Amino acid sequence: MTLQQTGSPHQFPTGSDAFPHRHLLGIAGLQPWEILFLLEEAKQWVDLNKKSSKHADRLDGLTVINAFFENSTRTLLSFEIAGKRMGADVVNMHAAQSSIKKGETLIDTAVTLNAMKADAIVIRHGSSGAVQLIADKVDCPVLNAGDGSHEHPTQALLDALTIQRRKGDISGLTVTICGDVMHSRVARSNIYCLTTLGAKVRVCGPPSLLPAALDRFNVEIFTNFDEALAGSDVVMMLRLQNERMNGDFIPSPREYHYLYGLTRERLALAKDDALVMHPGPMNRGVEIDSDVADDLNHSAITEQVEMGVAVRMACLDILTRKSRGVEGWS
Ligand code: ASP
Repeated sequence: MTLQQTGSPHQFPTGSDAFPHRHLLGIAGLQPWEILFLLEEAKQWVDLNKKSSKHADRLDGLTVINAFFENSTRTLLSFEIAGKRMGADVVNMHAAQSSIKKGETLIDTAVTLNAMKADAIVIRHGSSGAVQLIADKVDCPVLNAGDGSHEHPTQALLDALTIQRRKGDISGLTVTICGDVMHSRVARSNIYCLTTLGAKVRVCGPPSLLPAALDRFNVEIFTNFDEALAGSDVVMMLRLQNERMNGDFIPSPREYHYLYGLTRERLALAKDDALVMHPGPMNRGVEIDSDVADDLNHSAITEQVEMGVAVRMACLDILTRKSRGVEGWS
């Protein structure tokens, strides 16, 4: 079924046909209406999160395990807040304190998590594909909170929701993603998400940080940031992922900033009302200047964080509908 066949973007296939997936491991392969359905569902939680009492009982009695094998601030906190606001018992497992450090294999960890009868497991892992491996071993839905340089689906969804709120329909917008694309799961998930929703995506960075396979994606490739910025509706900056770099990919952070840093002067090359985004954590003065990051006329960076909670609430809700016996989701 195509998006056109579903009628308006707000009319989705009903019941589990709206999102017929057991897990959320990536954006690749999702249909446009499945992405739009997740975004539409998240909107109710944006409203709830603005109230003084932020409690919903949808996940009452359920256990959500956040298993984070890699550091995180925003993603871990927002999954924890999302689960708690929905009424679930949320348990966080940090790899530094886990048996991984004692040499346990990923499969044994997966079997252990499964034996604890979680109703959903949220996983972040440093290796691409590790989340899929765990998903294959457990009985409950698994949500990928970032695996290596592969995918970070909830980041792309929260980015899409932020863009939708600021710009309306994503289809037809020109979005420039700039920086360390090679190591960025955020870039990969956003490329899938934005191109699926009909945006024109430009990808920019030094040749050393652009993956060779990029020409297989439906994107325009730039190495000159000024050229990429011309006419952009949205500028999404990426952090240099030093922790994933094996050797030197750039001459120096200073030179990188000179060529690829988002300065106020450079932002003027994009559309007048261009939206500036960054998934965080930011390296101020490297990929983005503070006066741009903090300029509320352009920057949506804190709104991205806000949308992250709502999107994660929606994902936890939707993926547990089957086990909760919600009508139409059996
Ligand atoms: N927080 C994002 C991630 O986990 C982006 C970053 O770390 O630069 O991939």
